[in-house]
Amino acid sequence: MILDLAMQNKLKRKEFLKLALLANLGLIAKPFEGFSEFTGKYSKALSNDNVTYFKKGDADYELLRKGFNKRIEKFPQIIALCKNATGVAEAVKYAGQNGLPIAIKSGGHCMEGFSCNDGGMVINLSLLNKIEWMDANTIKVGPGCTLSNIYDAILPKGKIIPGGSCAGVGIGGLTLGGGYGLLGRKYGLTCDSLQEITMVDGKGNTVNSVNDKDLLWACKGGGNGNFGVVTEMKFKVHKAPATLQSYRFKSYKVDTIKAKTVLQKWFDVTASLPTGCFSAFVLNGKTIYILLTNADKHHAEVQKVIDTLSGLSEKTTKTTPQKITTALKVFYGRREPLFFKNASAGLYKNFAEVESCIDKVIETVLTTPGMIYQVNTLGGNIINAEFEKASCFPHRAFTYFSELQTYWDFPKQEARLLEKFQQVQALFSNNGIKTQYRNYPDIQFTNWQEMYYGANYTRLQQIKSRYDPTNLIRHEQSIKA
Ligand SMILES: Cc1cc2nc3c(=O)[nH]c(=O)nc-3n(C[C@H](O)[C@H](O)[C@H](O)COP(=O)(O)OP(=O)(O)OC[C@H]3O[C@@H](n4cnc5c(N)ncnc54)[C@H](O)[C@@H]3O)c2cc1C
Repeated sequence: MILDLAMQNKLKRKEFLKLALLANLGLIAKPFEGFSEFTGKYSKALSNDNVTYFKKGDADYELLRKGFNKRIEKFPQIIALCKNATGVAEAVKYAGQNGLPIAIKSGGHCMEGFSCNDGGMVINLSLLNKIEWMDANTIKVGPGCTLSNIYDAILPKGKIIPGGSCAGVGIGGLTLGGGYGLLGRKYGLTCDSLQEITMVDGKGNTVNSVNDKDLLWACKGGGNGNFGVVTEMKFKVHKAPATLQSYRFKSYKVDTIKAKTVLQKWFDVTASLPTGCFSAFVLNGKTIYILLTNADKHHAEVQKVIDTLSGLSEKTTKTTPQKITTALKVFYGRREPLFFKNASAGLYKNFAEVESCIDKVIETVLTTPGMIYQVNTLGGNIINAEFEKASCFPHRAFTYFSELQTYWDFPKQEARLLEKFQQVQALFSNNGIKTQYRNYPDIQFTNWQEMYYGANYTRLQQIKSRYDPTNLIRHEQSIKA
């Protein structure tokens, strides 16, 4: 999400306004609409009303292959663009019979490209994007829905699910890995609103979580590309807050001491934020940017936080409470793919956990243009004991989530930035930060099983054995039976 806040600074104002205008006018084509006539070998042999297959060289193969991260280039042997769940089952069976490992793509926003592979099959779910009302408080959605598809459909009815904020992120990947956002402290993670899933497992069978509570538990935080292809998700929707107000606090040309002081104070004041609030501390080069949002009434506790943050900053701006429909759009961000690396840089309980290495982290960020260190508030209802019992997301006790980001415009800039990136990750790791968020994976994490899933990994392995014993569905950091 906040990637987008940071990126707005990077975009030239003119370019940003142009994109924003085109998007408002509906002139930016939605991804994967209007494929040209398919003429490839797979089409003749296999394609039908349920699924269309694409191989290298076919029109639209390139469009379907690419994800949001331009850094990652992979070339599957075959892409199955599924039109319905029957198509998914057919594709899984075909892959099984032909020994093709399967990667699954919903919104294509995986930061390490786990939704694509080299030489295997990619199951593309972008056409599974229906939203259906089951009753006034329940929706059934396809995993290919983007967040903006969902907000557009349910906000006008006064309902919301606590998703992230970037418009193009798929509900499939977001929910199956957890899902935090501006309203997470109020309603929980996205996966905490998930009530039921339907999935084509690694054996090609269609299963439903109503018959296996363990499967639902596993899909709330541990379901990304592991057990099967989720084809339908049922969510509880919540009464949407009427408005959202946001505050921005900025300091410029900061040095290490200033950045560290502000960060420490930020941790102190956000520890007691009301649940309607979210905050992020962003160090982008030498600029500190703090975001505070409030979806509830403006009471004294919030004012105390505003006064403290304002006292620490050079510039404070605020919006009036905006209608939630308008306010969320401010955080929608860019739709076009970028060159970047963004990964979890630890979940923390407080400032003390990073104190021993934070000077060096800040120094590296200050001297590495293009690098951003960001800490986001979790906590609030994410800690809810019922949610914890019902999901495999193991990090409820950690009330802060940090991410390291770096962006570039040309491939030749990549190597140096990735080296710096690894240096910062090593600083955290060598100073005891061992807990990481699965939806912000880092291919360099060696002990990722424990970092993402903690003590729940063994139970997740048992579920993998049940639904995908031959490990047909896999990526670089998928659960092993
Ligand atoms: C710009 C940007 C902003 C972001 N903002 C937020 C945010 O605010 N909050 C947050 O929590 N996260 C955020 N993320 C991280 C995001 O949650 C993950 O990248 C998420 O996995 C993306 O889901 P997707 O469907 O778009 O991605 P995909 O690349 O399609 O899939 C991601 C992973 O999920 C698996 N998967 C996808 N669909 C299915 C399915 N139907 N069945 C089984 N497995 C599946 C894939 O195999 C892959 O491993 C952001 C990422 C980006 C790039």
